[in-house]
Amino acid sequence: MININENFLNLQDSYLFSTIAKKVAEFQKNNPDKKVIKLGIGDVTRPIVPAILDAMHKAVEELGNQDTFRGYGPEQGYEFLREKIVEFDYKKRGVNVSIDEIFVSDGAKCDCGNIGDILGIDNVVAITDPVYPVYLDTNVMMGRSGKYNEETGMFENIIYMPVTSENNFVPEFPEKVPDIIYLCLPNNPTGTTLTKEQLEKWVEYARKNKALILFDGAYEAYISEENIPHSIYEIEGAKEVAIEFKSFSKNAGFTGVRCAYTVVPKELKGYTKSGEEVSINSLWNRRHGTKFNGVSYPVQKAAEAVYSADGQKQIKENIEYYMNNAKIIKEGLQEAGFTVYGGVNAPYIWLKVPDGMTSWEFFDKLLKDVNVVGTPGVGFGPSGEGYFRLTAFGTKENTIEAINRIKNMK
Ligand code: PLP
Repeated sequence: MININENFLNLQDSYLFSTIAKKVAEFQKNNPDKKVIKLGIGDVTRPIVPAILDAMHKAVEELGNQDTFRGYGPEQGYEFLREKIVEFDYKKRGVNVSIDEIFVSDGAKCDCGNIGDILGIDNVVAITDPVYPVYLDTNVMMGRSGKYNEETGMFENIIYMPVTSENNFVPEFPEKVPDIIYLCLPNNPTGTTLTKEQLEKWVEYARKNKALILFDGAYEAYISEENIPHSIYEIEGAKEVAIEFKSFSKNAGFTGVRCAYTVVPKELKGYTKSGEEVSINSLWNRRHGTKFNGVSYPVQKAAEAVYSADGQKQIKENIEYYMNNAKIIKEGLQEAGFTVYGGVNAPYIWLKVPDGMTSWEFFDKLLKDVNVVGTPGVGFGPSGEGYFRLTAFGTKENTIEAINRIKNMK
């Protein structure tokens, strides 16, 4: 008889993007003459830049030549890429990370989910609310949650830390001390982040409580303000308590190419039930090498080119393009009288929906009245109710048009 992992039955169907797609398709069917502008999904739209594409082409050619063909590479990633990561993403910021603390993978989504393999089931998990839904769902799958409560919209045994305008989007230390804390900074979907001093407090808290911070820095490249850490390891002592996830998806448009990396410091220790200290880096190395066979050579060569002078210049232009859209959205919405958050250190704009409306009601109104698609905040967690996410990943022309339409909305 086939037994299943019954934790999967606790999962709530993710209706968010499928419901959005269904509503948009129906609207388009009934209104074929209307031009719908989509500022909903968090996927990039600008093509891969020439410096990266050239490197990828060259690497593909190498694979077709007897002398330069490559088969399996190191599971942890080629040294040529890991050296660049160490140099550019850490050393340049005064952070000391060594090559064997870097694990290259095909996505931060997989890494955020897979990390749970090496952590005990009894760990108490805390997530900010709202947040990228992968952290919650992967813990439900592993059995770290209880049942879903329809009334609260929350899972039992999971600590939800609200991040709303009431606390300035700064999570407070929860009443019950968690073992694992997910921090996504800059945060998807609120587009907000923490200052160095605010993050220092979380590192101190984790150190005091022997808790682990899982730090998702997928949007790090969009940070524009001073005093916002680009890596949690800029905080002293963070290497003893934090794992960091980074991705080439949002800085270099790799959402379809697929490449990311995770940093697992050697100082980081976990504990057996009898209190024995174990290296988390060794556990992750073992897990990664056993279940993963490395990212393809052309993709790693493409990722290496992200750090070349031309690569850096060209990806910066794309990031500036998106952040200009963010400015157009933010300022346009403010002129239209909306209260708006994010959009300065992240490509997400988080707005308060008009009083008395739910985020789904606002979604329907926006679609029907001005044919613009965004994402209802409640889809990212119960504290997202009353908010709405627009992304800066569209074209400039569409962004301007969408905002003009919203400004003229009745
Ligand atoms: N982390 C966050 C916070 C995200 O928003 C996303 C994608 O939207 C990811 C990770 C996924 O990254 P990747 O494309 O590397 O899997």
